[in-house]
Amino acid sequence: MKPIVAVVGRPNVGKSTLVNRLAQTSDAIVHESRGVTRDRSYHTADWNGREFTIVDTGGIEPLKSDDVFATSIRDQALAAAEEAAVILFVVDGRTGVTEEDESVARMLKRCDKPVFLLVNKLDNPDRENDSIWEFYSLGIGEPTPLSALHGHGTGDLLDDIVALL
Ligand code: GDP
Ligand code: MG
Repeated sequence: MKPIVAVVGRPNVGKSTLVNRLAQTSDAIVHESRGVTRDRSYHTADWNGREFTIVDTGGIEPLKSDDVFATSIRDQALAAAEEAAVILFVVDGRTGVTEEDESVARMLKRCDKPVFLLVNKLDNPDRENDSIWEFYSLGIGEPTPLSALHGHGTGDLLDDIVALL
């Protein structure tokens, strides 16, 4: 079985966009609005001949209340984290730290897996990379700036991922 890399985080931070980029496909569904999360989808990625499975969390079923929503994000993250060798925790550098981010972070701290904290949507590295600093407060370690949309940072990220597999 190929090693598993799980992508977790609250809705709309760019998880599916990142999965599409890392797996070089476009079969992870990218949503324009928040309010959807459910299943996990599995994609094959290959970096310099090293194959791994990348798991996107978040699918198509709308959820009801905010409470159920927050619980589901955490449960999704937990389920994905349990089967993963490496976890990619994606946050949104343009909105900053949210309570949902903190909830996911608390869960991740309890599972003993390597976690990359990825601060996404930093499309202009020269101007925006200072946005990463506030994410130290999540207690996950060093935040890495990223633009899943434009690809900034994704080559280095893939190098770092396969080094751990
Ligand atoms: P998910 O819910 O975490 O899977 O997020 P999606 O991948 O569905 O993306 C949510 C929205 O954020 C979409 O409109 C994406 O185009 C946008 N998005 C994702 N990554 C980036 C990025 O690096 N930069 C910018 N500006 N937008 C992004
Ligand atoms: Mg998604």
